[in-house]
Amino acid sequence: MRSKTRGAIQCEHRDLPISVVNNFGTILKGDSCGMIRLESATTEESMPRTPQPHHTRVLITSGFWRAYQTLNHERVIPYQWRALNDEIPDAPKSHSVENFRIAAAMSQGDYDGMVFQDSDLAKWIEAAGYAIENARDDSEFPAAARQTLEQRVRHVVDVIAAAQQPDGYLNTYFTVKRPDARWSNLRQAHELYVAGHMIEAGIAVFRGTGDRTLLDVVIRLADHIATVFGTEPGKKRGYPGHQEIELALIKLYRTTGETRFLDLARYFIDERGRTPYYFDAEATSPDFVRIWNSPLVHDYQQSHLPVREQVDAVGHSVRAMYQYVAMANLAIETGDAALAQACRALWESTTGRRMYVTGGIGSTSAGEQFTIDYDLPNDTAYAETCAAIGLFFFAHRMAVLDSDARYADVAERALYNGVISGLSLDGERYFYVNPLAVDPRVCDTNGTYAHVKYRRQPWYGCACCPPNIARLLASLGDYAAHATGTTLYLDHFMNGTVSATLEPGPLEVEVGGDYPWDGAVTVTVSDAPASDTTIAIRLPGWCDGPTITVNDEPVKVAAVLQRGYATLTRRWRAGDRIAVDLPMPVRTISADPRVKSSFGRIAVQRGPLVYCLEEADNRTGLHTVALASVPDFQVAHRDDLLGGVTVITSAGTTVALQACDDTLYRAPAYPPGRTDATLTFIPYYAWANREPGEMVVWVLAG
Ligand SMILES: [Zn+2]
Repeated sequence: MRSKTRGAIQCEHRDLPISVVNNFGTILKGDSCGMIRLESATTEESMPRTPQPHHTRVLITSGFWRAYQTLNHERVIPYQWRALNDEIPDAPKSHSVENFRIAAAMSQGDYDGMVFQDSDLAKWIEAAGYAIENARDDSEFPAAARQTLEQRVRHVVDVIAAAQQPDGYLNTYFTVKRPDARWSNLRQAHELYVAGHMIEAGIAVFRGTGDRTLLDVVIRLADHIATVFGTEPGKKRGYPGHQEIELALIKLYRTTGETRFLDLARYFIDERGRTPYYFDAEATSPDFVRIWNSPLVHDYQQSHLPVREQVDAVGHSVRAMYQYVAMANLAIETGDAALAQACRALWESTTGRRMYVTGGIGSTSAGEQFTIDYDLPNDTAYAETCAAIGLFFFAHRMAVLDSDARYADVAERALYNGVISGLSLDGERYFYVNPLAVDPRVCDTNGTYAHVKYRRQPWYGCACCPPNIARLLASLGDYAAHATGTTLYLDHFMNGTVSATLEPGPLEVEVGGDYPWDGAVTVTVSDAPASDTTIAIRLPGWCDGPTITVNDEPVKVAAVLQRGYATLTRRWRAGDRIAVDLPMPVRTISADPRVKSSFGRIAVQRGPLVYCLEEADNRTGLHTVALASVPDFQVAHRDDLLGGVTVITSAGTTVALQACDDTLYRAPAYPPGRTDATLTFIPYYAWANREPGEMVVWVLAG
């Protein structure tokens, strides 16, 4: 099934019509001086399921990410449905579905859970919608499982629709507990955040099933919100305490083509951080209903400055990422140069000075926040799974905004490391916090590490991360590629079918290989327009010496390299075959010397994967481990280990702690020397899937 929408702009700086498209719907933009003109959408059999078709569609059919999507479909999403219905023994209760049933007068009882508990269910529905879409397009997904999922979604959507209030309001906390206090505490109560996630759910269900029920619910919700907030007299000049609705409204605009949703998103983005501060007035209002005793600190929710004046990544890291995603999206939509520049500054702050080597962000558990440049402690790291997911989203939007592969490099770093580390290999346990060094014995006894778990958990009282992973995995194809005008950008190497509607017509390629374990990637053209188009393949920043052939003819990489992409332009024909080889030697990495916790230490990376040492393969006292000054890395793929991983071994040394006596402090000639050891590294994402033990990413330099 393929759909088409064309957009074109004429711009004084460029002669060619330009359309920028993404995967959620139509994006049309020019460059910073461009105006957009949407031509009529033409579709084939997909109408009315997809009135605003996405221009790239990636169906992941084999390999590393297909395994994750299958796990998501068969284990993660069904497990989470049970969790949301409180059917997991010994797991914290969710009450999410029950809250909606109570709000819909289908059940008796009190609301239970966090004030934003609705969002857990919304993210699950979003995951289910995309999983259904994948299953619809791929017959290898079992039909029975798809039907079961569709029934569950239909059932819960009916409950949600019944919980919606006559004026369009939808939030079970306030409907059940405080119907008099709607919108009285935007800073803490998460109403707009929850609404945003419900909007994303409605879009995903529509995409997956063609059923408009939830989409219509969230359109009514968004229209209700527009009656409450805005600059017009009588409306509140408020904005969310936790960003999310902004990016969701832009997605709703792309899905429906209704500019009022873009306008509302722009209002929320533009209003944020203006003085006098809305949150100051709100906190002193007689209507204010306190949710928590958290102090009002404007940095925390990035409301300290208007967004175009923000240059440092501060405050709660997930809030920050969702804001930056929305800013980048709006910049793409409108060509707002100041907004785009702010995004670039915030990108540099986030990824240049405040990001872990795993793509984790958020250095402290105190408020789940960023701190200062280069403060990246390994053992007390927060690095929330949701924050890495948010960074992945932000990186993708920046790659679309600037067509620069360095953004996709960071997306890859986050995805292969700090995102999927949040999910156990069996799909039923989760990390909220993703540390880079762990000692279980200390975690059990030292309250400083109370947030650090060394076993993934069955669920959380605050369960934002588990369904966030599920929705990302289900929609992963949306982030594998993007398209502009006559160019298809392959941002990530995910095996499957990539379909794009370019200006001259449809281009379809098959991506194959064994990434991330092997750097040989093939791109085979299966359909192409009868004129020149460009296939732009990201050459990862970690890779030295990539080689490319087209139909076995070598390509001079330097001659085709543009902003990190190998841009191959020709009149492609079905059967044309591009072979990319990305050499993957084991690399050692050191951090900027200003990163105190990693000074004098080395991390090991191969391809996109950051590696770690676990006690299960090595021994206790991993803090003493030093890599040999000239490591003799050996690489071996182990199908029998951790679901199949490539293991790295090298010579190193450790200190024999058992030889220590009872003298706590002593002359530096002691301790009793280092002993040789063979170090065994596994991919970081796979840690904590065996018996609990120590783990470190950064080891001492030999
Ligand atoms: Zn989370």
